[in-house]
Amino acid sequence: PEPLLSIDDLRVTFAVRSTFLRRTLMEVSSVAGVSLSVMPGKTLGIVGESGCGKSTTARAIIGLDKPSSGTITFAGERIEMASPQRRRQLARDMQMIYQDPFASLNPRKTVAQIIGEGWQVHPDLLHATERNAETALLMRKVGLDPALSDRFPHQFSGGQRQRIGIARALALRPRLLICDEPVSALDVSVQAQTLNLLSDLQHELGLTYVFIAHDLSVVRHVSNTIAVMYLGRIVETGAVGQIYASPAHPYTRALMSAAPIPRPWAVSRPARIVLKGELPSPLAPPSGCRFHTRCWMAREQCRTDEPKLREVAGRQTACHFAEEVVATAGPVGTP
Ligand code: SF4
Ligand code: MG
Repeated sequence: PEPLLSIDDLRVTFAVRSTFLRRTLMEVSSVAGVSLSVMPGKTLGIVGESGCGKSTTARAIIGLDKPSSGTITFAGERIEMASPQRRRQLARDMQMIYQDPFASLNPRKTVAQIIGEGWQVHPDLLHATERNAETALLMRKVGLDPALSDRFPHQFSGGQRQRIGIARALALRPRLLICDEPVSALDVSVQAQTLNLLSDLQHELGLTYVFIAHDLSVVRHVSNTIAVMYLGRIVETGAVGQIYASPAHPYTRALMSAAPIPRPWAVSRPARIVLKGELPSPLAPPSGCRFHTRCWMAREQCRTDEPKLREVAGRQTACHFAEEVVATAGPVGTP
């Protein structure tokens, strides 16, 4: 089978005013050559710190940020070549779930109005007389009582508000859901319920997910494959089981050691790897390997030669010394 979504060498640049060279506009790459794909019905997790380019990648997929180069193919169709009318249809097939369910819901609208927002834009999807019944069905699907459809977002808890956001996305019968940190703003006790709901919906509806998070422990349970991003580039990508069993990139290893307890995949808690230094500004990414200013394994070559993604132990990793990382990491990622 073909991937439902594939991205090839995506670049997204923004013009920003330089602080050192006043008035000079410089081009900053937020996403600097990213290739990814996800099979139908599967989940791709994208992980990294804020500013790594994961949200920009998501926004480019759904057409909110314009790529400066590269291609995005959805269901065999290059979306940048699609006509405006076709793009509108494609936009329906790809829906987004946002990090902050409160900020993304209009406080003056009722739940029914919020869930039906997309039907205003795509009126042909569902006849007006069917909308009430469909709203009730969607609310039940996400675990909300349809009797509450006249209430407003502030009358719901954070977890329930996220369910409203999920129902709104499902109302357009999408094939792909982009979940941008959907549980980061929720209480830990509610996170698991929300993840379970997303997973049930995926199986029931055959949905494909791109799941974005800064926390490896969150993506682990929902993803089939993951991509770890750092400063606009993918540093490691592959099947989830392989990467969690033995990360081959020093950055992945550091993220994994920082994941909060409970971490059911680890028999014993590996020593915490604390990254030195600050996350560099994307305005001036380090030379060579972009991670070298914070990497405890960095050597001279890392300052000058940028490592390319290559196959190491069954996954793709961009580190000159990935074999060493694999050899020393131990079976459960113990540094
Ligand atoms: Fe660290 Fe060098 Fe590997 Fe980059 S290439 S991750 S700096 S060891
Ligand atoms: Mg973000």
